Order: sequence, then structure tokens, then C-alpha cells
Amino acid sequence: MSDYDVLVIGAGAAGIAAARCLQQQGLAVQVLEASREPGGRAHSERTSFGYAFDCGAHWFHSPADNPLRAAADALGVAYASRPYPAHWYRDGALLSVAENADCAQAIEDGFARIVALGKAAADQPAAAALAPDAPWAPAMAAEFTAKQGVAPARGSCRDFSRYQWKGEDLPLVDGFGELLRRLAHGLPIALDSPVTQIDWRNARGVQVHGPRGTLRARRVIVTASTGVLASGVLQFLPALPARTQEAIHRLPMGHCNKLALAFKQPVFEDIGPVLLVPAGADAEPLELLLRPAGQALAVAIVSGEFGRALAAAGLDAARDLVLGQLVSLFGSAVTRALAPSQRLVNWDAAPWVRGYVAAPGPGDADARAWLAEPVGERIFFAGEATSLTAMGDAHGAWRSGEAAAAAAARGLA
Ligand SMILES: Cc1cc2nc3c(=O)[nH]c(=O)nc-3n(C[C@H](O)[C@H](O)[C@H](O)COP(=O)(O)OP(=O)(O)OC[C@H]3O[C@@H](n4cnc5c(N)ncnc54)[C@H](O)[C@@H]3O)c2cc1C
Repeated sequence: MSDYDVLVIGAGAAGIAAARCLQQQGLAVQVLEASREPGGRAHSERTSFGYAFDCGAHWFHSPADNPLRAAADALGVAYASRPYPAHWYRDGALLSVAENADCAQAIEDGFARIVALGKAAADQPAAAALAPDAPWAPAMAAEFTAKQGVAPARGSCRDFSRYQWKGEDLPLVDGFGELLRRLAHGLPIALDSPVTQIDWRNARGVQVHGPRGTLRARRVIVTASTGVLASGVLQFLPALPARTQEAIHRLPMGHCNKLALAFKQPVFEDIGPVLLVPAGADAEPLELLLRPAGQALAVAIVSGEFGRALAAAGLDAARDLVLGQLVSLFGSAVTRALAPSQRLVNWDAAPWVRGYVAAPGPGDADARAWLAEPVGERIFFAGEATSLTAMGDAHGAWRSGEAAAAAAARGLA
């Protein structure tokens, strides 16, 4: 006898979407979330800086076709109505208007070449589409790494070519985590409830074990990241089929971490995001989000191997590096204005995420579809890693949760 029709593991975007769908169909659903709050990689902190700071997701990508944007409209969660134009800088100075346009065009052309190569018969690393000595090559490599979490040499052209991007990115003013918190409101979510084992030996259902006990259900939707799935902290009994295990192995996590620094008074011009043109081809992807005057907060986003190593080096090292960049741009007043509120978010060290988003290497893009295949008609995987067209994005995770819920509900009502 089952306690539930469907158990959902994880209350991030995919898990919340799945639970809402299942609940709307009148099915008995329970969500088990390992951490103390819903949202997963879309998590906002409201207290330490006095206003929303997004530790993870911050922008609506493809706002023209993003179901979460419609949800924000319905729930009154504020987001910018227009994108903030990005400026590139190097050696402590913003590029001129002409140079900035040149750099942006080179990046657009580089992305177009990756997409074209991605449609060829054999997949190749994104680096194959980029001439390392071309003008703006380091900026191009940094932009790719910021999006994918891995350098072009590690990224798949095929995977990149499948990503569908419609419209310009819009940042959430109230916080992406705040949106998911409101979308999770009223759902049956047990927080602080890590699942350690899914026993699917019985063809009629699953038993889900954790420190809080055992629950039985007819089906289970698993939304944990591929970083968590690969780590073995969540065991399957019997082991997952070889194809699913192979999919997890072929979807390792990229890296993207954040540092937020507060200042006692506004010390920046209101210029929107600024991105570093790295000195060489070994990209050091660094983006600084400088809050408009009155909100003296700098958020540094560091990606790829550089971002992994910087976050691992700890708060002092990360702050020194970012402060050095800010001083080079705005002068030493920045250091004097630094406030004690400082927050390093290291997603690689977050035990229930273990990285940024899934980043398949050359030849591995199809692993996303393999992971999305139901196992034994009772285990359904969802999450950003399983999205085929909005991979790595919160709305891709959301749609994958809806798809998994539809598949899991089949024949249950
Ligand atoms: C720094 C950063 C910046 C980003 N920026 C953007 C952006 O601007 N726009 C955008 O669209 N996307 C962005 N993303 C990506 C986006 O956040 C993710 O694609 C999306 O939130 C993933 O949702 P998910 O449901 O697939 O996974 P998750 O959000 O990881 O949710 C899975 C949940 O499962 C829980 N869990 C894991 N294991 C267990 C277990 N054993 N038992 C119980 N619970 C478990 C986790 O705690 C987690 O809450 C960013 C991500 C990061 C890290």
C-alpha cells in the first residue's frame, strides 16, 4: 500500500513545477527537500544586504518565451522591463563605444560559428569554432564559459546549438528565489528531508528512505542535479540501468560562483554589468553587477575553472581579487567604503547541488535525453540537465518538471 501517488525529490524549479502539476490533477504528492528552503539554485537572500541578492539564478533568459516570467507577472514579483546593456572593460578602463560594439559583434559571430559547427555530423569542442588569436578571442572565451560553466575546449558545439534563446535577458529585481518561494507556497514540501536511498525493487512502487524515515509511493520524480546524482549520496536499489548511469557520468557540472560585497555608500557609476576582457586566451570570466546608486552592492560572478578555484580559495582571496578589479575601475575610494557585509556563494561546495549546471563535453549532448528516459516506469528524472532546448536555465528546469509530472501521472488517476 502506497502512502502517495508520487514523491518528488527536490524543491527547486523542476520539483516545484512537477508538484504543482500533480496537485492540480488531484494526485497525492509529497515533495522531499534536503535543504531548509525551497528554490534550489534559485535562492535569494533578503537580510544580509537589506535587499534581494540572488545567490544563483538572477535573469529571465528568453523572456519572450519563459513561463516563469508569466508567473512573476501573476504573483507581482518585479523584474526589469529592459535588459541592462553590458560593458566590457580591460586594464581598469571601459572599452570605448566603438570597441564595445566590436567586441559584442565578435561574440555574436563566435556563437553563430559554434551553432553552425554544432549542426555538423560529428560533434566538436566549441574551441574548434574560435580562432585563439582573433580580436576579442579572450572575451569570447569568457562569455562562453560564463554561460556554460566550462571553457570552450570542454564545451560541446552540439549542445550549444540546441539551446534556444528568444529575447534579451531580464534581471529579477525582487529575486529569482523570491519568485520560486512564492510558487512553492501551499505545496506539501517537507524541508530538511534529504533522501538517501530509492528502493525500486518492487514493480508496484518505490520506497524512499532518509533520516526522517521511509515513504512509499507508486512513482518518484528525481530532480537532484547531476552533481548530486554522480556523488552517490543518493543511492538506488537496485543500481540504475547502465544507460542512465552513463548519462549522469556524461553530464558533469560546470562552475559558476558569486561574491557579493556591500559598501557604506554608493561608489559606482550606474553603468550596469561590466565584464572583464581577460588578458589571455585562458579566460578568467568575471562579471561585475554594480547596483544602481543608492544600492551600494557589487556582485561578482566568476565562472569555469577560474570560478571554481577562486571560490575554493575562500572569502578573503575572492574579496581581494574583486576589490582589486573595482579599485582599478573606480579608484581607492572603493576600499574605504567597503562594508562588513560580504558573502561568498560556492555552489561547488553546496552538498545538495555540487556545481553550477550540467555541462556535457563534445559528443555527450544526447545524454540529456537519456537521463530524461523513465526507469522501470516508476523513476522519472527532471531538472535543468534534462532540458533539450533551455538546458542550464531555470525555465528549462521548470518545463522538465512539468514534462516529468505528465509522464509520471499517466495511468495513475
Ligand atoms: C550561480 C548561478 C547562476 C545562475 N543564473 C541563472 C540565471 O540567471 N537564469 C537562469 O534561468 N538560470 C540560472 N542558473 C541556473 C538555474 O539556477 C538552474 O538551472 C535551476 O535553478 C535548476 O533547477 P533544478 O530544479 O533543475 O535543480 P535545483 O535548483 O538544484 O533543485 C534541486 C533540489 O533538489 C534538492 N536535493 C538534491 N538532492 C536531494 C536529496 N537527496 N534529497 C532531497 N532533496 C535533494 C536540492 O537541495 C535542490 O533544492 C544559475 C545557476 C547558478 C548556480
